[in-house]
Amino acid sequence: MRAEKNVSDTFSRSHPIADTVAPHFELAYMTVFRPFAAACCLLLSACALAAEPLLPQLQAYETDDSWRQPVSPFPLADNSWYIGTGTISAVLVKTPQGAVLIDGGLPQAAKMLLQHMHELGVQPGDLKLILSSHAHIDHAGPLAEVKRVAGARVLGNAESAVLLARGGSDDIHFGEGLTFPPVSVDRIIMDGEVVELGGMRFTAHFTPGHTPGSTSWTWHDQHDGKTLRIAYVDSLSTPGYRLIGNPRYPHIVDDYRRTFAVVRALPCDLLLTPHADGSGWTPAVTAAPHPKPMTCRAYADGAEAKFDAELNKQREARR
Ligand SMILES: [Zn+2]
Repeated sequence: MRAEKNVSDTFSRSHPIADTVAPHFELAYMTVFRPFAAACCLLLSACALAAEPLLPQLQAYETDDSWRQPVSPFPLADNSWYIGTGTISAVLVKTPQGAVLIDGGLPQAAKMLLQHMHELGVQPGDLKLILSSHAHIDHAGPLAEVKRVAGARVLGNAESAVLLARGGSDDIHFGEGLTFPPVSVDRIIMDGEVVELGGMRFTAHFTPGHTPGSTSWTWHDQHDGKTLRIAYVDSLSTPGYRLIGNPRYPHIVDDYRRTFAVVRALPCDLLLTPHADGSGWTPAVTAAPHPKPMTCRAYADGAEAKFDAELNKQREARR
């Protein structure tokens, strides 16, 4: 075993990708790539003319305009504010020791978020913590820029930390299709962990499925002199996901099932979701932003019904 390790160590130093390929790679390189390189030299003009594919970040990610349309910040409770766009949520919670941001939206939302914070009397240096639901471009897109400007610490679980650090690259379902500026997580959080700032306590609930690191957050705020239990519950959708026999996520169905049960039991006087309309909100209509908000139970029930329909469809397709 030791001899094998030494070979591997030597190989690692000369080939950064050694972790993922066998040591036979060197032999393969000699037999395959060298003749190829030689052929390229002989046919230099043809090789030089071969076009590289578009970098994934240059491909358009088309969304409905409402995903990018800023709306004026409005209060959710005494200390919690909606500062996102027409349909993509970003929540700011103010405390005596600084502010907490939960989710940001698409990458181009960074300036809007900082402007909205300014309007609420929160300067960049006042933002202390950044929490998130999941590492997809439409929710984690501007976190790197906001972190750079504000110097806030990003908290997330281990699964999300990996995907955030890769900027969404090598996503289980989307591959390189939906990348965003990578952001490093400064503190790894655990399921059930409570994060505290200025007397506000945010509990992390792991709700994997939509991504392996999907996280929902609950906290207490005050509204009309009463305690309001707020639940920011992650997406429960399956946008184009392979649910059966997915080699990258073998237990995806089990994770969703557990998550539906967790969401049903959350403390939840006020439900918010990363896609605001997913829980009956219309932030674009700031005069009446929540005409028909849902309970956490109804949100989980509706999502599970859609999940079951999709699972059945995929089962039928395999017959
Ligand atoms: Zn997503």
